[in-house]
Amino acid sequence: MSHIISLANQKGGVGKTTSAVNCAAAVAALGRRVLLCDVDPQGNATSGVGVSRKNLAFSIYDVIIRSKSARDAILPTKYENLSILPSNIKLAGAEFELVDLERRELLLKTALAEVRDDYDYIFIDCPPSLGILSINALAASDGVIIPMQCEFYALEGLSQLLLTIKQVKKLYNPRLDITGILITMYNGRLNLSMQVLDELKKYYADKLFSTCIARSVKLSEAPSFGEPILYYDKNSKPAQAYNDVALELLARFGDTI
Ligand code: ATP
Ligand code: MG
Repeated sequence: MSHIISLANQKGGVGKTTSAVNCAAAVAALGRRVLLCDVDPQGNATSGVGVSRKNLAFSIYDVIIRSKSARDAILPTKYENLSILPSNIKLAGAEFELVDLERRELLLKTALAEVRDDYDYIFIDCPPSLGILSINALAASDGVIIPMQCEFYALEGLSQLLLTIKQVKKLYNPRLDITGILITMYNGRLNLSMQVLDELKKYYADKLFSTCIARSVKLSEAPSFGEPILYYDKNSKPAQAYNDVALELLARFGDTI
């Protein structure tokens, strides 16, 4: 039985996609069968693993809105053990199209049920909102990873997100659990970053990944080549960091190497 994990945070630009792509690639490189599921109309996770968003025969849009089988939309990537359920801008209208659909919060869960046995881990990259797409992602997941930047407003957004997770757990998905909070774009030389990290440790010590992802130019360059950092620059610090996160993640699911 696979583990389904959403990367969610309604704040934009906090490293959801970067973490989804690189956690997925790192876990795949550890020999697990991985599906990356792109639920963001921006389609950045799709292009981030080297798959063109244009001219997709089928995408997550067809799966969620048109009841297409996920198996028909999933594509292999050029990376071993890593497949993608791609997305593109077609999904942008989904919030409206979903209004009239029955069981609209559970469409992704239903779609993934058909393929989940093909994978050990499924990572879902959420859009920057707590709308129906993110609710679908959370309702389909066993765990949530919350990527966060150590900045002043980070904690404020966190309580709203935790509330939403609690509501989804109650209404649609009792299995849902917070897998961990992942600090991204960390700059240890900034006092504010250190203060926010201390604050997070005070309240969420058991949830924080012990690995922080530091700010890195390499990480921001890799997506334009469609390469996870592990393949873009194998020996770089962020490649090592995401590998460490992957190991922590596996440990949290009791998956021993
Ligand atoms: P959105 O909310 O728009 O989906 P996101 O939360 O998925 O954004 P990313 O797209 O992963 O965030 O990251 C935002 C930007 O920051 C991107 O340009 C990405 O390349 C860059 N970035 C992510 N992590 C790092 C890092 N550790 N160091 C430097 N740049 C980073
Ligand atoms: Mg994103």
